Amino acid sequence: AKENGRNQVAYFSSELDNELKEKMRIERKLKKAIAADQLEVYVQPQYDLKRGCFNWGEALVRWIDEEDGFIPPIKFITIAEETDLINQIGRAVIDKVCCLISEHGDTLAAIGINGIAINLSARQFFSSDLLDDIQSALGKYAISAKQLEFELTESLVMEDTGKAIKIMQALRDLGCRLSIDDFGTGYSSLAYLKRFPIDCVKIDRSFIMGVPNDKNDVEISSAIIAMAHKLGLETIAEGVETQEHMDFLKQQKCEYIQGYFMSRPLPIKDLLALPQSQK
Ligand code: C2E
Ligand code: CA
Ligand code: CA
Ligand code: CA
Repeated sequence: AKENGRNQVAYFSSELDNELKEKMRIERKLKKAIAADQLEVYVQPQYDLKRGCFNWGEALVRWIDEEDGFIPPIKFITIAEETDLINQIGRAVIDKVCCLISEHGDTLAAIGINGIAINLSARQFFSSDLLDDIQSALGKYAISAKQLEFELTESLVMEDTGKAIKIMQALRDLGCRLSIDDFGTGYSSLAYLKRFPIDCVKIDRSFIMGVPNDKNDVEISSAIIAMAHKLGLETIAEGVETQEHMDFLKQQKCEYIQGYFMSRPLPIKDLLALPQSQK
């Protein structure tokens, strides 16, 4: 048994060692990729259920590495969040989104896309550079803050609600839209929503997956929508993959939907090639 125990320890520590090595390898490559401006931004269109057309989009960062191929954001964002790299990535995303709006705002508007939502990590949101970075990008590309939305996860805003509310207010004062991402997955209650200066609540994909068949998911998502509306907030559902999802959300009077059923996240050239709507 003793022998066994020692082997276990050896096994676990080499496993940890490999994990750490892999993390450091990714981090090293990520630094280079950022410096060489190799990260890209894709945009997933969001759809207005009432008007029946696209109305906005979400920027999603993409890293395609020569050696490793597509590296999912979940993998490298988590690593980047432990260091200042996330701020560099975040700044690059803001810059690219503002550049896109500035260069192709007319095409986007013809498609129906009136603005782009950007994800913010906690470290970036609470960083003292955030407001300056946003303002200087708006100035550099001469675009309106009204064309930007920021998605803040529920766990981010719950980290330090007092401080978060102040930063949210400053972003709102600039003219940006705000939404709470992945709503329902964290520890905040619906009552908290009242305190946040936000425009929209984004219902997490995990609840949408189960509608209209799973009774709990139906109850949770319809309660989120109803409560958000009572507080004067709009709602968007993520992870809409089927006609049934869409029909359910329309019936619940959810304003917007986003998901593979409408469109995958698209490289910019494919985004700009979407059909132009008359609406
Ligand atoms: P998120 O903000 O919840 O983004 C939605 C994720 O769901 C995206 O994954 C998107 O591609 C995926 N998705 C969209 N529609 C569907 C659908 O119908 N079904 C399914 N199964 N998935 C769908 P992605 O692009 O891999 O991003 C993962 C996460 O990485 C994001 O989750 C966000 O937390 C983070 N992330 C992505 N881009 C950025 C960024 O620029 N900055 C920061 N801070 N985080 C980012
Ligand atoms: Ca998001
Ligand atoms: Ca989300
Ligand atoms: Ca989610």
